[in-house]
Amino acid sequence: MSTALETTSLGKRYGRLWALRDCFLQVPAGCVAALVGPNGAGKTTLLHLAVGLSRPTTGHVTVFGRTPRDGTAFLSMVGFLAQDHPLYRTFTVAEMLEMGHKLNPRWDASLAASRLQALTIPLEQKVGKLSGGQQSQVALALTLAKRPQILLLDEPLASLDPLARREFLQMLMTAVAEDGLTVLLSSHIITDLERVCDYLVILSGGRVQLAGEIDEISRRHKVLSGPRRDEEAVAAVHNVIEVNHTVRQTTLLVKVNGQLFDPSWDVHDVSLEDIVLAYLGQPPINDLAAGTRNHVEALV
Ligand code: ATP
Repeated sequence: MSTALETTSLGKRYGRLWALRDCFLQVPAGCVAALVGPNGAGKTTLLHLAVGLSRPTTGHVTVFGRTPRDGTAFLSMVGFLAQDHPLYRTFTVAEMLEMGHKLNPRWDASLAASRLQALTIPLEQKVGKLSGGQQSQVALALTLAKRPQILLLDEPLASLDPLARREFLQMLMTAVAEDGLTVLLSSHIITDLERVCDYLVILSGGRVQLAGEIDEISRRHKVLSGPRRDEEAVAAVHNVIEVNHTVRQTTLLVKVNGQLFDPSWDVHDVSLEDIVLAYLGQPPINDLAAGTRNHVEALV
């Protein structure tokens, strides 16, 4: 499978703070990738670097082999929806469509019109008078009409109610199915992401903690439970992500390397949400001692 977005040693420093550091990623073409992490993790920083809105302090980023310095050739491939989906509030929807047409050489007017028609959003309505959900839909329709090859979305679901979230994701998935888009979207709403994404990137403290295909991540992570004991024997072979002890019982969330041979553990599957929360509950990778770092490698 070819790579849509690749970052190599990508980093961004603001003064003394590294917002993103040593970021190595290879997002496969055609996938819908989720970017998750706590507030301040570096998600927006990564997305801004990826679309060329910000310049890296270290390393570089390519999209289908091109860098932001390739100018129009790069920009025409990339669609970006910022966190506050900026639209001109005093414009009507039709005027926004006309502006998009004038600014983008590959503009697909019928695609934008048919998507908005399907949502029954009136073209003569002023953008500022639309609901938050409708504004998100308009912003997505405008971004899709650019006919990008990759779409980067910064927390597009944050301000939407559950119904609007579902409609937004449906529109996105239709575009993915029809146009073969690659998508990278940041969000805190993991249950929604689980339904639509097939690739996951977990960021924390400006570092990638885990990246890989969701099926493979789910397959490799297990919960082990059994009579109370130390986790050292398991940790010698597998990567122990989370440890919980009660008086009688020990429960481990583990990234399994190879086979689990010890029959004294009960082995259970674990939800994606629990995997994400376990990684986010850990100290960021740059705070870990070298000897415990091996569990944060990329899963590819
Ligand atoms: P959130 O989920 O809250 O949107 P995020 O994961 O998108 O957070 P970023 O916005 O990328 O996080 O910020 C990462 C870090 O970089 C934060 O500590 C933030 O304060 C800092 N930062 C981001 N932009 C700037 C800037 N322009 N100048 C200084 N510091 C910045």
